[in-house]
Amino acid sequence: MARTTSASGAHPHEPHGDGFAGKLNWLRAGVLGANDGIVSTAGLVVGVAAATTDTAALFTAGIAGISAGAISMAVGEYVSVSTQRDSERALLAKERRELRDEPDYELAELSEIYQAKGLTPETARKVAEELTAHDAFTAHAEAELGLNPTELTNPWQAALSSAVAFTLGALLPLLAILLPPVTARIPVTFAAVLAALALTGSVSAGLGGSSRGRAVLRVVVGGALAMAVTYGIGQLADVAGI
Ligand SMILES: [Zn+2]
Repeated sequence: MARTTSASGAHPHEPHGDGFAGKLNWLRAGVLGANDGIVSTAGLVVGVAAATTDTAALFTAGIAGISAGAISMAVGEYVSVSTQRDSERALLAKERRELRDEPDYELAELSEIYQAKGLTPETARKVAEELTAHDAFTAHAEAELGLNPTELTNPWQAALSSAVAFTLGALLPLLAILLPPVTARIPVTFAAVLAALALTGSVSAGLGGSSRGRAVLRVVVGGALAMAVTYGIGQLADVAGI
């Protein structure tokens, strides 16, 4: 299944918006995780429902699919965020060494960064000197690496939130297939899933500032395709008497 975008996603060019951008990124990762849960579980339960009317089998398949999906999301997110954090820590350690070994070079580097942002050489130098006097390490981490050394993403937190997001999304198709009468199961699930995907597609496009119409179309077509394919497989299995 699709990996959610790594949740830390810092916006290095928006140092003043760190808190807000960070929350938006978490929210976006949550919506994408929920989307994954909706699509993969919908595909699974529609496929099983096309093959059998046995509610116990459907329930078992649904729960197993949700557990496997949530764990897979959590592991994937843990690995990806851990790797990212390792490389961020290595960069920060390198910066710390450079500040210790070559402070003059580092001061010049920092003032060049501020000059490149549009300050005059004099002002840039003064900003660099004052920041260096205040907290050289944090100043370099932010200006050069776009990292806030005290706010690196926690891989456990990322893993847990993606598993929760996936599970919340996955509950929708599970309930949609289990609650209605047997003959209405598949149409109700199709309708509920496509409506939910239109909503999550619209929300995530809104959060990312992109076109809602296209995002909704992509995610709805993707979800419909997943359900159509597994429905076809379930029908074949049913016809073949598997
Ligand atoms: Zn530096």
